[in-house]
Amino acid sequence: MDDVNTMAPGGVRDSVVGRFAPTPSGRMHLGNITAMLAAWLSAHSSDSGAGRGRMLLRIEDIDTPRVMTDADRWIMDDLTWLGLDWDGEPAYQSQRLDLYEQALDALGWRNTASAAGSHNSAGDGGADNGAHRNPTTPLIYPCFCSRADIRAASAPQEGDRFIIYPGTCRRTLADDPQQVRDRLKRGDRHSLRIAMPAAGDPRNLMTFHDRVFGPQRFDLARDLGDTVVRRADGLFAYQLVVTVDDLLMGVNDVVRGRDLLRSTALQLYIRESLLSAGFDGVNAIGATDASHVETVAKARRQTAAIGAARNATAPIPSFAHLPLIDNAQGRRLAKRERSLDMGALRARGVTAHQVVGYCGWLLGLQPDPEPCSAADLLRVFSWDQVATDTADRRVPDDPFGVL
Ligand code: GLU
Repeated sequence: MDDVNTMAPGGVRDSVVGRFAPTPSGRMHLGNITAMLAAWLSAHSSDSGAGRGRMLLRIEDIDTPRVMTDADRWIMDDLTWLGLDWDGEPAYQSQRLDLYEQALDALGWRNTASAAGSHNSAGDGGADNGAHRNPTTPLIYPCFCSRADIRAASAPQEGDRFIIYPGTCRRTLADDPQQVRDRLKRGDRHSLRIAMPAAGDPRNLMTFHDRVFGPQRFDLARDLGDTVVRRADGLFAYQLVVTVDDLLMGVNDVVRGRDLLRSTALQLYIRESLLSAGFDGVNAIGATDASHVETVAKARRQTAAIGAARNATAPIPSFAHLPLIDNAQGRRLAKRERSLDMGALRARGVTAHQVVGYCGWLLGLQPDPEPCSAADLLRVFSWDQVATDTADRRVPDDPFGVL
């Protein structure tokens, strides 16, 4: 079951490409290390016959207000200290802005912007994405709503910060495109949203298998709604950039916290839309990088496989979402709480093997939090073992007895 998603159409499994994608917003804590450890073990334990899996490091510094100077260097220093290595140079999202712009263009934004919501805008898009939506709704559309507007008009949502957008600007675009045109011309502040398929459209149902939480099923319109892909402050949104990067970096093994299960459905939809649009990013990074050329070739094969309708043989990444790691009070560990971060632990003399062993225990890979190396855990790692206990974990205030 685990391997189905990364199976190429011919039945040969692609070599595994995992990634760790931290936001450099502070020093890593035990939750971040647990996610990296699981991703590292997954990539390195893979025996696909296509060679040892690779592990990529991507610094997600796209959300500049959250970025902390030097946090990228701390992340790399802590990972190295822990013996959790990665392959190649780390990628920085801040250096890939052209690529994200190109992705938006491929999804039809440039054409939508120039037509500014005129009735033929959907058909003009670079992507053949109009068929499954109301013909007047382009895939990417401008949204002038403020957060307060949206909160006031939406039902409250659960933990992962999704507020289902009530569709206000999508309706305006359909009913009064001239108003949208005028507002764009005036330079009114706006975000860009990606339109979900209409309810009833087969594409609206997104399913995937999670290695820890099992079969997943989301109604995109109802469970996610039209989501921001470029924020009103001009920054590209996480959901777009993570999808573009995972696609173009050839990532086929995604490991992260269970709070992103719902986001995975959205990212699969964006991925599918990019592939349907023939997005390959060649012009943005140049076709000289051999690994990129291979990635592009793979993306093209996937595009052909996906075609107009979803095709079960089109390879999508394997997904594993992990139980969340909470503090003693039951709140999710956060980088801004310094007490369990790597700086505090290292300063108190906690060893790398203690940290790795503890995280291995949090993953359910050993019965006690005994010190060990990542290589030791590789001998016992399996996703089935991790999946035996999906409850969130709670870490005491002083897990190593050093306070
Ligand atoms: N930068 C994101 C985070 O730190 C990555 C999430 C993901 O793995 O997709 O939460």
